[in-house]
Amino acid sequence: MALIVHKYGGTSMGSPERIKNVAKRVAKWARAGHQMVVVPSAMSGETNRLLGLAKELAPAKETRSYMRELDMLASTGEQASSALLAIALQSEGMDSVSYAGWQVPIRTDSAYTKARIESIDDVRVRGDLQAGRVVIITGFQGVDENQNITTLGRGGSDTSAVAVAAAMKADECLIYTDVDGVYTTDPRVVPEARRLKTVSFEEMLEMASLGSKVLQIRSVEFAGKYKVPLRVLSSFTPWDINIQEEAKSGTLITFEEDTQMEQAVVSGIAFNRDEAKISIIGVPDKPGIAYQILGSVAEGNIEVDMIIQNIGKDGRTDFSFTVHRNDFARAMDLLKAKVLPTLGSTEALGDTKICKVSIVGIGMRSHVGIASKMFRTLSEEGINIQMISTSEIKTSVVIDEKYMELAVRALHKAFDLDQVQA
Ligand code: ASP
Ligand code: MG
Repeated sequence: MALIVHKYGGTSMGSPERIKNVAKRVAKWARAGHQMVVVPSAMSGETNRLLGLAKELAPAKETRSYMRELDMLASTGEQASSALLAIALQSEGMDSVSYAGWQVPIRTDSAYTKARIESIDDVRVRGDLQAGRVVIITGFQGVDENQNITTLGRGGSDTSAVAVAAAMKADECLIYTDVDGVYTTDPRVVPEARRLKTVSFEEMLEMASLGSKVLQIRSVEFAGKYKVPLRVLSSFTPWDINIQEEAKSGTLITFEEDTQMEQAVVSGIAFNRDEAKISIIGVPDKPGIAYQILGSVAEGNIEVDMIIQNIGKDGRTDFSFTVHRNDFARAMDLLKAKVLPTLGSTEALGDTKICKVSIVGIGMRSHVGIASKMFRTLSEEGINIQMISTSEIKTSVVIDEKYMELAVRALHKAFDLDQVQA
């Protein structure tokens, strides 16, 4: 007997019919002798619907009291789906109870709409499990020290599930979703993309931060910190497939010390169009300039990703960096108002038609020449690289957005990712 956490995404909970399917699947696991905790998302579209209603009444307000009510509102989506799942389980003949975050409780800080989990009290849940009940816990939400309901940021049910699994030392956390695992890249761009049977936690973390939408990044961080065995798998297989087979399907997130097998050098290609590039032309080439520019940007609460400073000529140089596209206009305004006048440089150029393409793989640590193979592949396609950044296990480039698909396809092929894993 094991303690298992299942998480079901919004699509998997999208209709009474689908909820019934989830209930049948969960009941199958419970009947196989496992203690089951289930964390559902809201039914698909529900969180957007609720937040849309708020927007109709108060567009783009960001006061703390408004954010509090957004959490009060958005958390109801998960409360409804959790109760529905408990009802569906009961009608399957399974004893089941659902809890909202505050009833567990799942304690968080007070950062409305992006709260962080601080602790989870599992006494009540354990009591139910011991009594043979399936316990449903709302995803996406918790409660702060003043009993205010908080939510964890969009996609936060993944994090709820992993946090519950960590707190309860579950044997495995299974994330059921509308894709059947983690792929070498997005199959909509590269039809030859393959599902990975395993991916290391660090690779998953890079992929999540580089634009793969399979798991909320915080959930991956949590899994890493607490070493939660995590599997991503499809909720669209028939509910009654063989449980052993199901338990081995999808993609398992592994920790490096468990990975004995020979690693592929590159495991995946990630890409996103979320960033914009800003270049400041002709800044003085002297100490303190990077701080002057990026300090003001940081003060404006704008996150910077890639940064390049070229070698100076005649005491002047160019300085480029990328920001999220949503912050682009604000960053440009801020630079023009505050930074350019003090630098005595005249121009800030913006480019929103860029994309970032990254290769990710822990095998890069022990192999040289991977980045240069990436650059060669892109050059053979005639694609110009505008910026480069590297870490131990990834290399990212910024290129013109219109070459994104070409670049991803070429790299997928060059690194043999369309070949079946041994
Ligand atoms: N329902 C929330 C959202 O749509 C949380 C989640 O689904 O993970 O963002
Ligand atoms: Mg999700």
